[in-house]
Amino acid sequence: MGYTYDPKSHVADEFINDQEILDTLAYAEAHKDDLDLCHAILDKAEGNLTPSADHGAVITHRDASVLLACQDEGVNRRIKELAHKIKQAYYGNRIVLFAPLYLSNYCINGCLYCPYHVKNKDIPRRKLTQDEVRAEVIALQDMGHKRLAIEAGEDPKNNPIEYILECMKTIYSIQHKNGAIRRVNVNIAATTVEEYRMLKEAEIGTYILFQETYHKKGYQELHPTGPKSDYNWHTEAMDRAMEGGIDDVGLGVLFGLQGYRYEFAGLIMHAEHLEAAFGVGPHTISVPRVKPALNIDPTAFDNGISDELFEKIIALIRITVPYTGIIISTRESRDVRARALEYGVSQVSGGSRTSVGGYVEEERPHDTEQFDVSDQRTLDEVISWLMDNDHIPSFCTACYREGRTGDRFMSFCKSGQILNFCHPNALTTLAEYLVDYATPETREKGMAIIERELTKIPNEKIAAKAREGIDNILAGTGNDYRF
Ligand code: SAM
Repeated sequence: MGYTYDPKSHVADEFINDQEILDTLAYAEAHKDDLDLCHAILDKAEGNLTPSADHGAVITHRDASVLLACQDEGVNRRIKELAHKIKQAYYGNRIVLFAPLYLSNYCINGCLYCPYHVKNKDIPRRKLTQDEVRAEVIALQDMGHKRLAIEAGEDPKNNPIEYILECMKTIYSIQHKNGAIRRVNVNIAATTVEEYRMLKEAEIGTYILFQETYHKKGYQELHPTGPKSDYNWHTEAMDRAMEGGIDDVGLGVLFGLQGYRYEFAGLIMHAEHLEAAFGVGPHTISVPRVKPALNIDPTAFDNGISDELFEKIIALIRITVPYTGIIISTRESRDVRARALEYGVSQVSGGSRTSVGGYVEEERPHDTEQFDVSDQRTLDEVISWLMDNDHIPSFCTACYREGRTGDRFMSFCKSGQILNFCHPNALTTLAEYLVDYATPETREKGMAIIERELTKIPNEKIAAKAREGIDNILAGTGNDYRF
């Protein structure tokens, strides 16, 4: 059956329309050397430098695909410079920190790239008990984390929705020293509207689901068995999540599986679809690349992309979907992360362990790891390094706590409000971290940065309130301060 491209449709084959992607790639190939066109697209994209309600629609997947195909050095330089400026306009120099928490590696799917796949008999299967969840979360809190992304394989018997909900309840209930986890994002397999509703009621932060690949035929080959093999069920998951009331959703492609140009066009079309159908674009976009893991050799997939191309893709996501949070994990090395932060990334994980029960272990366990972690530094080392590179680490979860999700967050972000609220929030949550968890060197460095940044808050009243909040944190009399 032939499908027609329709970004408002709820049918996967219509909003991620194969023919539209093929036409886009042909258009990009035909115009990639037209430098006048490339610069004209970049002129248009400069419209994103001033946050406004129209954004997300300024340049399209076709425009962005032309830029991706273009090899001209001057165009590529301009893409990165513009991405840097757009990131500053929306997010300033703040970087949000989080950690993944692996609950269970039981899985009934057959994903060829993932060590959790059902046929991998070499991996020990493990699922955390609630006591173990508590121990893991306390270990994460002792590092200073406030925001987690919980991860689990798909297995209705071992990891039913009730198990995920119970884990969320346990996590939110833990008060340990001065800390609490304030936002739990959830990365579990595509499910029903009913179950999304339950996750919403359990106070999910962002529902994250990586598409892996937008290429339907490639998807079917890479997911030969299990519920995840149904491309449409998987691709339409965000529509069901929205219907279930979850308005912060996180997209992602697993780069390396299929051709990057196809994936990039599909990813941008998915963002356009969410905007067109729900008036709310993706809260975040993740950019994982396939990594080695137990019985998994990434070179088997043949579509690996160079660091340079990877960074260009991140820059293009930033200029095309300016409001979205871009997430980079510890799959990437310190150096790649450093550059990606300049071109668009706004959230990073730190101190991560990708094995079930890994945080309570003294040594990093490898047997149940989902993938090799490239950046193995501690959270404190990551924080210190971010500050050395002129970023402000933030543990803020205020938007979520204040009910600024979905379209409320989008209009907040698109109207440039992030700058007025997030800066003081970042500084107060950084002060909490420095007082409660940092090493003496990181604390000293951080306090100097806070002093410097406080003077940059233009609104005197907000500056005075932020100073008062930070003084309270330093005096140990209050740490529940946010704008
Ligand atoms: N089971 C859930 C699902 O099917 O969507 C999500 C949880 S899974 C633990 C999180 C993500 O890890 C997957 O969506 C996939 O993109 C990524 N992943 C799997 N194998 C990987 C590998 N070898 N290297 C890098 N990332 C991988």
